[in-house]
Amino acid sequence: MVKNRLYLSLALSTLLGALTTASALSQEPAAAAPDPQATQATGTSQDLPAPLSSLSVPAEPFDANAATATYLARLTGEERERSDHYFEGGYWLILWNFLFGLGVAWLLLGTRLSAKMRDLAEKVGRWKAVHTALYALQYLLLTTVISFPFTIYQSFFREHKYGLANQGFGDWFGEQMIGLMVGLILVPILLVALYAVFRKAPRTWWLWGAAVSTVFLVIMLLIGPVYLAPLFNEYQSLEDPATVDPILSMARGSGVEVDKVYQFDASKQSKRVSANVSGIFGTMRISLNDNLLERCDLAGVKAVMGHEIGHYVLNHIYEGLLFFAVVLVGAFAFVRFTFDRVVGWRGKSWGISGVGDIAGLPLLIVLLAAYFFLMTPILNTFIRTNEAEADIFGLNIAREPEGFAETALMLSEYRKIDPGPIEEWIFHDHPSGRARIQMAMDWKAENLGEE
Ligand SMILES: [Zn+2]
Repeated sequence: MVKNRLYLSLALSTLLGALTTASALSQEPAAAAPDPQATQATGTSQDLPAPLSSLSVPAEPFDANAATATYLARLTGEERERSDHYFEGGYWLILWNFLFGLGVAWLLLGTRLSAKMRDLAEKVGRWKAVHTALYALQYLLLTTVISFPFTIYQSFFREHKYGLANQGFGDWFGEQMIGLMVGLILVPILLVALYAVFRKAPRTWWLWGAAVSTVFLVIMLLIGPVYLAPLFNEYQSLEDPATVDPILSMARGSGVEVDKVYQFDASKQSKRVSANVSGIFGTMRISLNDNLLERCDLAGVKAVMGHEIGHYVLNHIYEGLLFFAVVLVGAFAFVRFTFDRVVGWRGKSWGISGVGDIAGLPLLIVLLAAYFFLMTPILNTFIRTNEAEADIFGLNIAREPEGFAETALMLSEYRKIDPGPIEEWIFHDHPSGRARIQMAMDWKAENLGEE
C-alpha cells in the first residue's frame, strides 16, 4: 500500500508480508486529493488561544459536531463512492492474495515441483546453506513469474483505475525488477539462517525461527532508509526554512534531537501525500514527500509532521518491534503445531520430510499466511491504536486542527471515510477520516476556543 515498502513486500510473500506489516507502523500514507479547496480554508487555524476572549463580546461557541459534518459533506457522492469502492476492494484483495498463495503452494507441492527444485539444488556441492540458497532463488523467481499477472492488476492497473498512480508501465516494471533483485539477495540470507536453526534445534526450532525473523526485521528496519528506500526514490534534506523551521521547532519542543528532515520524490510513483518515520537506532529519520509539500499548506504540513514526531517521541518503532516479536513467536508456534500434521497427511506424496527440508517452504509460507490472515484485525488494531496516539500527540504540538482535518479529508481518496465500527476494527490500520476529523474538531473546541 505504500510504495517505498516495495522492497519489503517483494521479498518473501508471506514471511516478509508479516514483516512488512510491521514497517507499516513507520509509514504514514497520507493523502492525495487534488482538491483545490485543500490549500485554503485553513487560515482560521492560525488563531492562537485567546485568553482574554472571555472579556470581550461573547461569540458563538465552536460546534465541533457541526464542523465535522461540514467537512464530511465536502466529500460528494461520486468521490465518496469511488473511495469506498477502492478501499472495500482491498478487503477482497486480502482474501484473494491468501487464496492465490494457497493455490501456488498447492501447485508447487502437489506436482512435486518443490521436491524437484530441492533435488536440483542439492546437486551443487555439499553445503546445506548453498542448497537452501539455490532453492530460495528458484522459489522466488518462479513465484514472482506465476503471480505476476496478479501483481500487475493489483499494484499497476488498479492504482491507475482509481487515479492514484503516476507511473508508466516501463518505470513501474523497472521498480518491480529492482525489488526482485533486492529479494534475490535478502531472501536467501533469511532462509539460510532460518533453515540452519530448523535443522540444528529439532525441538525448539520454532522459538529460534521467531528469533531469527525478529533479528532480520531489525536489520531491514536498520538498512531500509539508508540502502533500500534510495533505490526507489531520491531523498534529500528539506531546505526551505519557511517549511523546515516550524517542523524542527516542533521536534525540539518535543525533545527530539533532529537537525534535518528528509524529502523524497514520491510524485514519480503516485499522487498520494505521505510522510513517515523510518529506520531504527541510528538510522531513524522523518521524511515527507513532495506531494505533501505541493498539495498542503503549512498548516497541513505541520499537522502531518506533528503526527510523525508523535511516532518518534512515543517510540512506536520499538514498541512495534516488540509487538511483532511476540506475534512472530505466535506465528512459529502455529507452524510448530500444524506443519508436522500436514506432512504426516501429505508429506510422502509431496516428497517432503519435515520442517528442516527446504522443499517444504511452500507449506511453511502457507501456514504463516493463514496465521497472518487470521491475525488481520489484531495487527490492524495495534497499528491503528498507535496511529490514534500519534494523531493526538500531533494535534497538541502542531495546534493545527483545521490543517489536520483537511489532510484527513484528503486521505479519503483511498481510505473509506466513514466505516462501521466492526469494519474499522478489522480493516483499518489508521483511524477513519471521520474519526480523525471529529478528534481534530473536538480538540479545537477545547483548546482553541471560539472562532
Ligand atoms: Zn502514522
